[in-house]
Amino acid sequence: MTDRIPQQPVDPITESDEQIAEALASASIPAILMSIVHLEGSLQAVADLARPGPAVLGEQQGGMADEDKARVRTAALDALRAYRDRGCTLPSSPSTETIHEMMNLMVGEEVPVDYVAMMTEELALDGGDPRRVGWTRPLPDKLKQDFPVVIIGAGMSGLLTAYRLQEAGIPFTVVEKNATVGGTWLENSYPGCRVDIPNHFYCYSFEPNSEWTRYFAERDELLDYFEQFTDRHDLREHVRFNTEVTRAVFDEDTGRWRVGLRRVDGSEDELDAAVVVSAVGQLSRPRIPAFEGLDDFEGVGFHSARWRHDVELEGKRVAVVGTGASSLQLVPELAKVAGKLEVFQRSPCWMTWNADYHRETSEGKKWLLRHVPFYGRWYRFLLFWPGSDGLMPMLVVDPEWEHPERSVSESNDMLREVFTEYIRGQVGEDPELLAKVIPDYPPFGKRMLQDNGSWFGALKQDNVDLVTDGIKRVTATGIECEDGSQHELDVIVFATGFHANRFLWPMDIIGRDGVELSEAWGDDPSAYLGITVPGFPNMFCLYGPGTNLAHAGSIIFHSECQVRYIMGCIREMVEKGLSTMDVRREVHDDYVARFDAEHERKVWAHPGMNSWYKNSRGRVTTTSPWLLLDYWRWTMQPDFSDYELR
Ligand SMILES: Cc1cc2nc3c(=O)[nH]c(=O)nc-3n(C[C@H](O)[C@H](O)[C@H](O)COP(=O)(O)OP(=O)(O)OC[C@H]3O[C@@H](n4cnc5c(N)ncnc54)[C@H](O)[C@@H]3O)c2cc1C
Repeated sequence: MTDRIPQQPVDPITESDEQIAEALASASIPAILMSIVHLEGSLQAVADLARPGPAVLGEQQGGMADEDKARVRTAALDALRAYRDRGCTLPSSPSTETIHEMMNLMVGEEVPVDYVAMMTEELALDGGDPRRVGWTRPLPDKLKQDFPVVIIGAGMSGLLTAYRLQEAGIPFTVVEKNATVGGTWLENSYPGCRVDIPNHFYCYSFEPNSEWTRYFAERDELLDYFEQFTDRHDLREHVRFNTEVTRAVFDEDTGRWRVGLRRVDGSEDELDAAVVVSAVGQLSRPRIPAFEGLDDFEGVGFHSARWRHDVELEGKRVAVVGTGASSLQLVPELAKVAGKLEVFQRSPCWMTWNADYHRETSEGKKWLLRHVPFYGRWYRFLLFWPGSDGLMPMLVVDPEWEHPERSVSESNDMLREVFTEYIRGQVGEDPELLAKVIPDYPPFGKRMLQDNGSWFGALKQDNVDLVTDGIKRVTATGIECEDGSQHELDVIVFATGFHANRFLWPMDIIGRDGVELSEAWGDDPSAYLGITVPGFPNMFCLYGPGTNLAHAGSIIFHSECQVRYIMGCIREMVEKGLSTMDVRREVHDDYVARFDAEHERKVWAHPGMNSWYKNSRGRVTTTSPWLLLDYWRWTMQPDFSDYELR
């Protein structure tokens, strides 16, 4: 990735007609249609052109016929030529009504009016940054300086908070246990690691990137994006690297937190914080099940998030335990090098086809993102919309549904058919393999995965076996299964997930009246909007309980919602001189009751599967049951009557 991450307005066009035409060959036609409207200043400009069909995940051309696409490209070339020749000036911005019509046109369906504001904000069509929270009045610097914030974690969410606090002029320190930023994208360096939603959308809304080399960027490029973000905005100097927050204690007398740190050399320190923001992620503490005999293994064993790059795998007998998201990315890569690869599956995953999953972006595509006004913004909408709330109705439990064990409703059953067809097509004539890979629980019950044939391609390789007998124990030489079979191994990779339900663990967070958060929560965490916890004033969580997304969207969208909310709280505290802000218990409890009731109606609570969405009692704790739209609305601005303010 280069070091340019441009915003609107984009680079001026100086290229020849031929060069523009060549780049247009890579255009997403629905997105370029929208640019024509901006370039020409009117929807009339595209009135005679064919309209895209309904937007579908993984399809960027609106299902349009080749001759229709060619006509759009010709119109785009005319519009871009005129734009270049008049000195790259644009007519005035489209009205809100026109934007709504453009959205409808682009995704081939009526976008409900409620979504127009959310999507207009997400697209930042005016080139501004609508999620920025400004002061309502000029404030003396001293007020801000007296309000130090400690952010725990320098992953995507922590960096975002740092950026917003810097904008607001609030002093902050980020404490990060690792040697650099990036969190998830630093820690997961296993072969094949990549984002599994499109990265032209998995990036901050205010920091688009035209230079992604793939549609689903690999880990190094994602890490690079967050490293560059850190440096471009001078955030690094605010981060204490190689330092872990071990505890945080609320002091009732001062209304402040004392945040205890331990550096990598063992030395300790303490920070004073008016506000603590936890940005420790849900997936940052690797979990290896307590298999009997784990310590006896004489080969090499490690977790997928702690990849041992020093271990040679060429020709080796390798096991991958687990068939979740990481395994799906990892196994096709290991299958290329391992002598023998055994994949241990507890339950299979639902997945769907995406042709772009491993595809590289073309130079033409990057040129369009760099030069064509609003092309990147609308391209983001094209990726976001089909992966938005539209799927939610298919994940709602129909209590009358007659096949409740395999699906939750008729429409969910239809999804089951579609995904099953895909799996059948991939597996081909291998009834034994087919019986192992079709899940028996409803689609979307566990994390939905993407495939481009690489997973099943790997499973069908001669050197790869899918083992579905339960693991009984680990032995000195490998794995013994419940059926008595012995699997001799050199290396065991545990793609077994994270301690997702142990939020903020293993820190000791001690709130009012000496209450310890880990004791209050156990593995049953809850927080109002996933952000605030009664009895723990001035503490805010990002990617907290119940904020993982499993139906749509990206975690970045959710974090942007949460950070805006938190900045709203901080603004209130600083401007009003408040010392504490504590969510009312009844507000929290009411939210949790609604959260649980909503989950009872949704696929993720279905008893047919274990997943990292649930805790040991089967309650869904990690994942949101809400529409993106609802969560966006609720977090837009804090309702201060939800809080006890002092
Ligand atoms: C393999 C993988 C693939 C994923 N793919 C996607 C995807 O495609 N789309 C998507 O939306 N999401 C995806 N996710 C979820 C991903 O975690 C989020 O998108 C996002 O990276 C979360 O950012 P975060 O900053 O909240 O947490 P993290 O990235 O986990 O960062 C947390 C940071 O906190 C630090 N930290 C933790 N505890 C402490 C402590 N006590 N003291 C100091 N520092 C601490 C950690 O070292 C880490 O740097 C994926 C996750 C994984 C593991």
